Amino acid sequence: MVREILLGSVLGILVFLGLDGIDIWPIVLLLGLGSAVYFTGILNRVGNKSSRKVSVSHVTTTFQDIGGQKVAKSELKEALEFILKPDIITRLGIRPLKGILLTGPPGTGKTLLAKAAAQYTESVFLTSSGSEFVEMYAGVGAQRVRQLFQEARSMARKEKKSSAIIFIDEIEVMAGKRGSNQSHLEYDQTLNQLLVEMDGMQVHDDEVRVLVMAATNRADLLDQALMRPGRFDRLVRVDLPDREARLSILELHTRNKPLDVEANLDAIARETFGFSGAHLESVCNEAAILAMREGAEVITTSLLRQAVDKVMLGERMDRTMRHEDQKRVAVHEGGHALVGELVNPGSVASITIAARGMALGFVRHAPDDDRLLQTVSELKADIQILLGGSTAERLLLGEQSTGAANDFEKAWDIARQMVLSGLSSMGVVQEEALSPEVLYHTIRDIIAEQQSIVDELITLHEHDLWALAAQLLEHETLPGEAVRGFIA
Ligand code: ATP
Repeated sequence: MVREILLGSVLGILVFLGLDGIDIWPIVLLLGLGSAVYFTGILNRVGNKSSRKVSVSHVTTTFQDIGGQKVAKSELKEALEFILKPDIITRLGIRPLKGILLTGPPGTGKTLLAKAAAQYTESVFLTSSGSEFVEMYAGVGAQRVRQLFQEARSMARKEKKSSAIIFIDEIEVMAGKRGSNQSHLEYDQTLNQLLVEMDGMQVHDDEVRVLVMAATNRADLLDQALMRPGRFDRLVRVDLPDREARLSILELHTRNKPLDVEANLDAIARETFGFSGAHLESVCNEAAILAMREGAEVITTSLLRQAVDKVMLGERMDRTMRHEDQKRVAVHEGGHALVGELVNPGSVASITIAARGMALGFVRHAPDDDRLLQTVSELKADIQILLGGSTAERLLLGEQSTGAANDFEKAWDIARQMVLSGLSSMGVVQEEALSPEVLYHTIRDIIAEQQSIVDELITLHEHDLWALAAQLLEHETLPGEAVRGFIA
């Protein structure tokens, strides 16, 4: 803003002097020279702000420190043979691999894999993020890319290494589809420079071999030129861990912690479907913090379960609640848990009426195994569990409350998914050809059908539910086993 006012005033003065008959050209020349010096200074300053770098001596992560990710690890190791066996590569005339792209959800270990790759190949490791190349000044991003590659080579020579790995996190920020960004010229220049540098990478005996590893959660946003053979020609998927992988991640992150000999990590792995490695690391850390808070000597399964709740829902709230509301929450959550156990026996992991984050209470379900596909009856069961809370309130307390709004939304989404997947009475449908009214009524029918089943279940188990709610009011949190004990 100040810069604009200054520029305006200078222009105004120049026009005024010009009209007054004063020769303004020497002043204009001087000002031009001054601004050239000023902007070059800025460019250098911005360009020289060196990218973060970590030399291999600091990278201690090995493939053994990464839980699960068997496929990603073996694909990566295979790709790294290019660095490890240059003689064979040259003898067979194989085109060297220049780039490996790691794609997958956040926190699944992409950075860890890149570090382990550097350790495995004894390469120097430079790390950077796509956003570090994005600047408002044209040319700065491209300059930084050039610098990064130069740095990789010079660091490798200095440390007497024959290879370097450049890791670029969030590559979609700098390598999105060209022409799609607002300040597209700068973005395009940066991406072009990256492509030029990657094209220029050759294997000569005296040269440092540079491998670019990049990570993204949004591979769909990347420019196609980046994915063509000869650039990022290896794509390694780094997915959310399955149950076995979750167990090994939990084991890795409790290695340095005093774990109770009875602690059941397998149960925690079962109850954490959908968690990433980063979530699981956080669970172990939070459990240790809780142990410290409670003055416990060891980390127990119960502390780990509390940590799972905390990671899932946030810190416990110190909210004082009217007894009436507390009772309602206990009945509501009891309804979810009861229906959960009736439709999927053994699936409730824990139930609580302690408020955390936005939730006043919560039932944690642990599916028997990771679910990648869902059948019609599983989807219907999910809707029934969601309706359990409001139904319990209506049948036991006489009326419902606003607490179920979120449940209804989720139930509606599941029913909609059923219709659009061809699982409703209409069979296979095409979304565009479906009138909103028909869609609405079909969803309503599915939900109404589940509602009558839930009404029946809760009526049949009203006494069990009252007993469960009373226990919840007394103990606040109950494990799944306790819930099962109430079901006659
Ligand atoms: P983002 O996409 O957000 O950059 P990322 O996939 O690069 O995430 P990392 O930075 O590698 O994830 O992982 C974050 C942290 O999560 C690690 O420091 C580690 O503690 C833990 N973690 C993630 N995945 C694993 C795993 N497979 N084994 C062990 N720890 C893991």
